[in-house]
Order: sequence, then C-alpha cells, then structure tokens
Amino acid sequence: MAGEPQPDCLFCKIVAGEIPSTQVRETETTLAFRDISPQAPVHVLVVPKAHYPDAAALAEADAELTAQLLREAAAVAADEGIADKGYRLVFNTGEGVGQTVFHVHCHVLGGEGIAMRLG
Ligand code: IMP
Repeated sequence: MAGEPQPDCLFCKIVAGEIPSTQVRETETTLAFRDISPQAPVHVLVVPKAHYPDAAALAEADAELTAQLLREAAAVAADEGIADKGYRLVFNTGEGVGQTVFHVHCHVLGGEGIAMRLG
C-alpha cells in the first residue's frame, strides 16, 4: 500500500532507527538527518517517514505531506544558518539523474563555497 514501510529501503530503516543517522530535526511525519557523504558544508536530507519512491509519487499521493517536507527543509536551512545566504533544495528523481535511494528525500545544500548556479 502507498506509504507503507518497505523492508529493503535504507531510509525506511533510518526512520525506524534500525540504521543509525545523525538526526537534526524530527516531526510526526518527517525526519531530517545529515548526508553520510556531504557535497556541501551543509548537506541534510529531509524525508517523509512514509515511504514514497520519489518526489512525483509523493506529490501525487499526499499534497499536505509534500508541503510539510518543504517546510521542514526550510526549517533545516534556518537552523543551520544558511537561510539568509541562500540554499539549494534538490530532489533527484530517477536513476538517469543519479537517484540512488528510492525513498523520496530532499537534499538541503548550502554554506560557504557552494555554487549557486546550475549548469
Ligand atoms: P540520491 O542520489 O539523491 O538518491 O541521494 C542519496 C543520498 O543518500 C546520497 O547523497 C548519499 O550520500 C546518502 N546516503 C546514503 N546512505 C546514507 C546513510 O546511511 N545515511 C545518510 N545518508 C546516506
């Protein structure tokens, strides 16, 4: 069923506490934790606790949870002190652009030296 935990999903295991993570924020419906291989001075992943494979599936299934995820991403940016200078939110969607974990996650990227233009 949509949203149900998936046994082989890495981020479902992190949400369940079966795999350790460095958590920075938690709500009833979302979890934010530091990326294990940071690509910027601040690199946090925000996930819904419910399992959806990617951003498109989440948006299709649950508009309110999509909004909660984006609000949490903004709250992470504020907590991490990167909101004023600007930050990037990335949802890799599909293997072709490098999505490796098929539990939707928002990358929150920012800090000194981050290139702020795409391309
Ligand atoms: P994707 O390429 O958009 O799917 O991003 C997956 C992200 O998950 C990558 O940036 C990885 O570094 C990150 N990642 C993989 N395993 C872990 C983990 O156990 N804890 C935190 N981040 C992880």
